[in-house]
Amino acid sequence: MECELCGSESRNSVEILFEGKRIIACLDCSSMGTMIEARKPVKPQLAKTTELEEFNLVEGYGTLLRKAREKKGLTIEDQAKQLFERASTIQHVEHEKLLPDLKLARKLEKFFKTELIKEKEEEKAE
Ligand SMILES: [Zn+2]
Repeated sequence: MECELCGSESRNSVEILFEGKRIIACLDCSSMGTMIEARKPVKPQLAKTTELEEFNLVEGYGTLLRKAREKKGLTIEDQAKQLFERASTIQHVEHEKLLPDLKLARKLEKFFKTELIKEKEEEKAE
C-alpha cells in the first residue's frame, strides 16, 4: 500500500485518522494521526488443496435426505456412523442449517442413490 502522507510503498501500512479523514499511512507516518486498525497483509487466495466448490443443491435437500434416511430405517446416528460423519452434521444438513460441502454432498448422493447436486439443465438425460 502506498502511504498517502509520504508516498512510500510499504507492506506494513496502517489505516489512520488524519485530519478527520481515514487514510493509509506507513508505520513511520502513522504517528501523525490516530491509528484505526492494523492492516493485515492480504494473502492471495490460492486454491491449493481445496478446489472451488460451486454447486447447487436441489431444493428441499434437507427433507429429501430425511425421507431417504427414514426409508432406509436409519437413525441420524446410524447414518452418521456409516458415513463417518458427526450426527450433528447430518442433523444440520437435514434441517438445511448446514450446506454440505461437495464431498459430503457426493457422499450422501451415493449413500442414498439420490440426486442432490443440481446438474445443468441440458445435461439432464431422461
Ligand atoms: Zn509515510
